[in-house]
Amino acid sequence: MDFSWNDRQQAAYDRMLTGSRALDATGSLPLRDHWRACADLGLTGLSLPEELGGQGYDALTAARAVEAAGRGCPDMGLLFSVLAHLFATAMPIAEHGDDRLRKELVPLLATGEAIGANGITEEEAGSDVTALRTTAERRGDQYILNGTKSFVSNAPVADLLLVYAVTDPAFGFLGVTCFAVDRDTPGVTIGAPFVKPALTTCPAATVTFTDAVVPAARVVGRPGQGAAIFQSSMRWERSCLFAAYLGQMDHLIDESVQHATGRRQFGQPLADRQAVSHRIAEMKLRLETARLLLYRACWLLDRGEHTPLDIALTKLHTAESAIQTALDAAQLFAGSAYSNRTDIARALTDALPARTFSGTSDIQRELIAKGLGL
Ligand SMILES: Cc1cc2nc3c(=O)[nH]c(=O)nc-3n(C[C@H](O)[C@H](O)[C@H](O)COP(=O)(O)OP(=O)(O)OC[C@H]3O[C@@H](n4cnc5c(N)ncnc54)[C@H](O)[C@@H]3O)c2cc1C
Repeated sequence: MDFSWNDRQQAAYDRMLTGSRALDATGSLPLRDHWRACADLGLTGLSLPEELGGQGYDALTAARAVEAAGRGCPDMGLLFSVLAHLFATAMPIAEHGDDRLRKELVPLLATGEAIGANGITEEEAGSDVTALRTTAERRGDQYILNGTKSFVSNAPVADLLLVYAVTDPAFGFLGVTCFAVDRDTPGVTIGAPFVKPALTTCPAATVTFTDAVVPAARVVGRPGQGAAIFQSSMRWERSCLFAAYLGQMDHLIDESVQHATGRRQFGQPLADRQAVSHRIAEMKLRLETARLLLYRACWLLDRGEHTPLDIALTKLHTAESAIQTALDAAQLFAGSAYSNRTDIARALTDALPARTFSGTSDIQRELIAKGLGL
């Protein structure tokens, strides 16, 4: 077993750490400017094939670069926005689209020239993605889409929507099809952006289809492969996207060590109190265990040897660790966590939805139990 990084992986990490520290994390620029800066760093195309404009990184190298971005850039909303675009919109097209679709769409997504969004969740189909009600009816060489996606990150700014719809209700899992839909397709309505308390710099909205006509050439993969394509996109999100939270934890631990050694109370540095130093020790333990699970999941993904159990273990542990680590940092920084002198409260707020998106923590526990034969 080799735990060292090769030169390419180390260079990807170093470059991304330096570059992401220079990103504007205030969210105050026009969104396209933030995206352009991320694209210049290569974030929009990390795992996309080089011949289609991406960096051609395998999952492990991509995850390591994402980790660096999460460590360097405190704007988790921006990172989530860009990485959901990469792993849940661009990757499914790159991996499952036919040659024509890949050549038409992936280069635009890889460079961030086009922004992608993905929509599966519906009002009545959250964790239960088998309950989709959005339909796509075939008429000649077109499909007619009807239904509403209730939570689509990036929708307010997206150029391309990856949409999952039922094409054959009788076939259940095999009756769902994935479509790449242009934003300006007649019959597509993007709702007003949600007012969100977390990941605020990633806009989100509902997307409604009313007799929206989508060419059959925009089917990603084959009809009926939608559920499998969605699951493959979740493998990327649950491993590589969550590496951003490893970086965030690393950053919070650095900050916590600095604060605990620098701030004095009762005539001593905070770090002299075991209650404080042991809390930071637990933060470090959580980060390192999450790292090992996540790197291993990516390594298995690259070898094609992953199981739902491996991916669920890393998603669950990374999400829960990110939340607990941010809570611990907030405890340590106390009053200053809630001032604009630190980014601790923002990190905590942005860690909370990690428990929900890409499949909730409860659903990951279900997958782990199932993987154990329970
Ligand atoms: C920040 C953010 C970004 C998102 N972006 C997108 C996006 O871009 N595209 C998209 O399609 N969706 C997106 N979502 C939606 C997300 O995928 C859903 O919120 C998630 O799948 C859970 O669905 P739900 O909210 O309907 O909760 P529900 O499914 O109603 O779950 C409610 C509670 O019940 C629990 N529960 C449900 N079923 C079970 C079960 N079988 N066993 C145990 N517990 C269970 C859940 O764990 C949860 O605690 C996003 C969500 C968030 C928070």
